[in-house]
Amino acid sequence: MRAAVYLPDGGVGPGRLAEVELAAQIAGPAELALAEVTVCDERGGEPLHRPDLVYEPAAGGGPLAGAEAERQARAFGLTNAAYHAQRALRFAADLLGEPLPHLVVRVGAHSSPSRWGGGHYRLPGDVSPPEPYPVAPTGEVHLGGGRAFVPGTGAPYFNAPAHNAAIVYHEVGHHICRHTADFRANRLRPPDDQHSGKVALDEGTADFLTAVLLGTPDIYGWHRRHIPHWDPRRRRLDARWTMAFLRPRSSGHAHANGTIWASALWTARCRVLADDGDGERFDRMLLRALSGLGRPEGTVADEQDRRNRFSELLRELLAADAALAPTVRAAMADHGIHPEGGNAELRARMRGTSTPAVTT
Ligand SMILES: [Zn+2]
Repeated sequence: MRAAVYLPDGGVGPGRLAEVELAAQIAGPAELALAEVTVCDERGGEPLHRPDLVYEPAAGGGPLAGAEAERQARAFGLTNAAYHAQRALRFAADLLGEPLPHLVVRVGAHSSPSRWGGGHYRLPGDVSPPEPYPVAPTGEVHLGGGRAFVPGTGAPYFNAPAHNAAIVYHEVGHHICRHTADFRANRLRPPDDQHSGKVALDEGTADFLTAVLLGTPDIYGWHRRHIPHWDPRRRRLDARWTMAFLRPRSSGHAHANGTIWASALWTARCRVLADDGDGERFDRMLLRALSGLGRPEGTVADEQDRRNRFSELLRELLAADAALAPTVRAAMADHGIHPEGGNAELRARMRGTSTPAVTT
């Protein structure tokens, strides 16, 4: 089916508007069904009123747009989210040699009582605030309807997450992590009592996959252009974040801590490319390492602790491709990540302070 989407062009914008062929079925007035992913708009209405999927982005729509512009923007968002979610899932399946479990994407989720401009990945189980939806056992991506305009871009554009490939890729990255590294050891937990929290390695891996799929280390260069390059909230991967910046035991800083891992992966991939290597080989090495880390060994508590360690995932990475291992090991060392020691030990080593006896 013909579909209008944004194609990433490595620039600081939503991408280039283009028409592509999308293997999707219109399953309802606000739902698209693809082999890998189902995408629905939780706000209802009938955004999908055409026989094809060629809709206008309408500058993101939003509360100030007219009814028809908002309808177009929602239909474009459904299409754009479906296209990018499918692209990310196929990318991972090609590297893994097998498909990932089906993904559900809910667009316009959590839009009342207030507007939400973010995205998150959820599994069945207690979360705060609780989910109003029965969450699919294989995992769901929820994208808000948007809350504000993209700052500092001249012409106003309403920041609808479904229009933003970076947000879609990041959240699908968590689905890839859940079914490979499984950082919270959810395979060892009851299916209806899963842990949706994210650790730094989960956030960092999701950001790295986003950078590969976008073809730029400035993954949030569009909607966070107003944030300086050196600020961790910009989440640029080509800044050298090291273990010296780690804030251990602070789950509230999982994104910032994750940038250390994401930027180290980016450095390693760039070195592999510079050595006449191929980037896809490095990506395959990473996916193999994630699957290796997720192999069940101990109890939930033991596994959560083990899978939270940068050194453990680095060891899996080095084991996944012996030929690339020396290059990757050296790149990781430049970020203070070594194949032995707890996270706090790596931080102390990078800061040049004594190694603490208690590790995390
Ligand atoms: Zn995340």
